[in-house]
Amino acid sequence: MSKKIIIFFGPPGSGKGTQAGMLARITDWKKISTGDLFRAEILAGTKIGKVADKYTKVGKLVPDKITLNLVEKSLKQKALGFIFDGFPRNRQQLKDLLVIFKKALKKNDQIYAIEVAVSDKEVKQRLSQRRMCACGKVYHLVYNPPINGGVCDICGAKLFIRNDDKPKVIAHRLKLYHDESKYMLGYWQKQNKLIKIGGEQSIKKIHEEIMEKLKGLKLI
Ligand SMILES: [Zn+2]
Repeated sequence: MSKKIIIFFGPPGSGKGTQAGMLARITDWKKISTGDLFRAEILAGTKIGKVADKYTKVGKLVPDKITLNLVEKSLKQKALGFIFDGFPRNRQQLKDLLVIFKKALKKNDQIYAIEVAVSDKEVKQRLSQRRMCACGKVYHLVYNPPINGGVCDICGAKLFIRNDDKPKVIAHRLKLYHDESKYMLGYWQKQNKLIKIGGEQSIKKIHEEIMEKLKGLKLI
């Protein structure tokens, strides 16, 4: 049987990570998220984990070589499919990933990209209303507000805006996303392997649309 590979794309706040997780649970395909991979290596205290820890502690991106090594290793797991979330992030990583695919996959394995499309306006709206608590709980002032304005329902601590969610930083993250995704989405579009999903609907509706399209392509 051929393996299925799904690569999720979407701007920050598009909810693609949530969708990747839902798809992984329902299909039992393995989710490959570089953030999770690093956390697992750090927890296990491996050599790679120790190097990754040094970078993430100071808020730096782990060098591509290490990331690719981990991705290649994960693709060797026994699974009928793999779901990528948050990787590749740029054209170089896409090129490197295609090299890995060539080595690790067979000719009849199928690779598709899913774009969870959300307008810049909606991204700004979603992220600027996001509030965090030091305990890890995340709120949204419109969709998921705290009971008592400004403090956490669980621990009572004062909520704050993540630096990443400040307007200037959001604009910068969006620009980065558009610069890089233009090339990557164009690549999959040319191969006729791009599935575009409207991301401005409920989580459940987005999930249903993804399932419908994958069924239509006989991927599930
Ligand atoms: Zn809290």
